[in-house]
Amino acid sequence: MAAPSGKIPRHDPPRRFPHRHLLAISDLSRSDIEFLLDRAEAFTPLAEQRVKKLDALKGRTLINLFFEPSTRTQSSFELAGKRLGADVVNMSASSSSVTKGETLIDTAATLNAMSPDLLVVRHGSSGAAELLARKVSCSVINAGDGQHEHPTQALLDALTIRREIGRIEGVRIAICGDVMHSRVARSNALLLTMLGAEVRLVGPPTLLPASSARWGASVHHDMKEGLAGADVVMMLRLQRERMQGGFIPSAREFFWFYGLDEEKLRHAKPGAFVMHPGPMNRGVEIDSAIADDARISLIERQVKMGVALRMAVLVALAEHGANESGE
Ligand code: ASP
Repeated sequence: MAAPSGKIPRHDPPRRFPHRHLLAISDLSRSDIEFLLDRAEAFTPLAEQRVKKLDALKGRTLINLFFEPSTRTQSSFELAGKRLGADVVNMSASSSSVTKGETLIDTAATLNAMSPDLLVVRHGSSGAAELLARKVSCSVINAGDGQHEHPTQALLDALTIRREIGRIEGVRIAICGDVMHSRVARSNALLLTMLGAEVRLVGPPTLLPASSARWGASVHHDMKEGLAGADVVMMLRLQRERMQGGFIPSAREFFWFYGLDEEKLRHAKPGAFVMHPGPMNRGVEIDSAIADDARISLIERQVKMGVALRMAVLVALAEHGANESGE
């Protein structure tokens, strides 16, 4: 049927992810983020099926290169790759030549010679993933670089919030604790504000970076004030491995002022949800009674969404690569 105006109806071109790598939320637009969240949504039912295997990445090779310890993120990428049919190789710094003095650049050249299609990297230095991306010919995914960014964590958190609350726009989210050393906080603040959420950063002045004013969030030093009317309270771990010097008087005192317990949670909206990227330090930033309360804690749901989200990222980048090489 002809279009009423007599013009040929225009069909939007099929959407595709426009980036070769996933290095930081700051590289993405709102529509890139929505694209990944929508794709991840489509993968969520797979976890409930008896056979959880697809062949979207059959014949592709995924290397997981972890220079910092990880339980959740590494196994999540491994499972995501395997569920998509890819061949997955896990390498950790302790089992690699890095401990024998090889530099990151040498490692990149060695891995590149093995022709992987996707390289997932976690490293203690900010900018390491970007450096690797410049040295290899495959797609690189940042699984956490120092204090800088952890884009897939923020994306899986957004997916979890969108599923539980039904939207992100207008949702009030308090991100609390060691914001300064947290790549999760930065990625989340950037993503959530881009999608129209109201983000508050809550913590002692020593643990809030000066740059946080640029993240589009408000800053609070008092939990009561920061949590007031929040729909979601996201707690962060004290990243002691990145602290040089004394940022807090003691873990006990930190819990007293900033640890999430029932009393502090009462200031949030009734029915507010609690999130944590893990690993948790119970009794330091979060009380066990809150962490384990399935009515309010989204922590296990975050882990579940992580696999679907990472499947979406792997497929989006692999499709981009195939497109570039004219496959
Ligand atoms: N797992 C997250 C990260 O790698 C959070 C944390 O370690 O506290 O940044």
